[in-house]
Amino acid sequence: MSRVAFIGLGNMGGGMAANLAQKGETVTAFDLSDAALERAVGKGAKRAASAEEAVTDADAVITMLPAGRHVEQLFGRDVLGKAPTSAILIDCSTIDVDTARRVEGAAQAGGYAMVDAPVSGGIAAADGGTLTFMVGGSADGFERARPYLEKMGNAVIHAGDAGAGQAAKICNNMLLGATMAATCETFALAQKLGLDLQTFYDISSKASGQSWSMTSYCPVPGVGPQTPADRDYEGGFQAQLMLKDLKLAMEAAKAAGAYTPMGGEAEELYQRFVDRGGATKDFSALIKMIDDSWTP
Ligand code: NAD
Repeated sequence: MSRVAFIGLGNMGGGMAANLAQKGETVTAFDLSDAALERAVGKGAKRAASAEEAVTDADAVITMLPAGRHVEQLFGRDVLGKAPTSAILIDCSTIDVDTARRVEGAAQAGGYAMVDAPVSGGIAAADGGTLTFMVGGSADGFERARPYLEKMGNAVIHAGDAGAGQAAKICNNMLLGATMAATCETFALAQKLGLDLQTFYDISSKASGQSWSMTSYCPVPGVGPQTPADRDYEGGFQAQLMLKDLKLAMEAAKAAGAYTPMGGEAEELYQRFVDRGGATKDFSALIKMIDDSWTP
């Protein structure tokens, strides 16, 4: 049994910390939100009065925070120099590649091993312990992080050096945003051309237009497997989080000099959808803006 400091117990972190506690780790938790902290305590974590207190005697420090600025500030102020250097540091937040590399560089300079380990899978996967982790960092850091990550997920993949986990995450989500946008406009066109949407699904899901956005996450209610579309686009992966990831992908593309017109188009579409009131809807609800029936 190890001592795990878990910081950031929101929609994702709450379930992740609960899985660690349930699987025998001693979890000491901290969140700026008392309600989030209280929920974690209800699921087996010990309460810390501050992030610094949580990390004091930790074997592993895991963070699940909103964005890069939160991660950089927390590690600079409360983790580096405060946690024992024997602790493995694992940031699971989705943040920009440059910040991830900067924080990992600072950790290394302070004598720590650190990995970036963003996740794929939403709140249900965090609660169920079935996340996919894509991990950036040294081979040694990866091996030290792996036993903790395996308690929260069912796939843990080493993507490469520091920042590679974040790079894989934003590339994956750029592809997801672009294929979902294409799937939405395709179904809208199919309808306008008079096709029955279930019939079109049956054809395209077995033809060369098939993709995960169509066969596992169909944006049309009543077509394909059960998805957020069947729950009025509630739950699932919020459009504002997809927009955040597309913005990270576009920043990274700009910095790397990569040409990503489809990613850029997807970013614009999601920005428009969020501006029109769709921020908290599942990202597949984009179809309602595309087929003109969107009423926020
Ligand atoms: P959230 O806003 O629900 O949770 C973040 C938590 O961090 C909040 O409880 C907040 O109070 C806490 N926090 C912020 N700053 C803090 C600080 N300095 N000290 C302690 N606590 C602090 O967000 P979430 O949905 O859990 O997402 C977390 C990360 O996971 C994000 O980077 C997001 O992009 C990523 N992610 C989310 C999903 C999803 O479906 N929600 C899926 C994959 C990845």
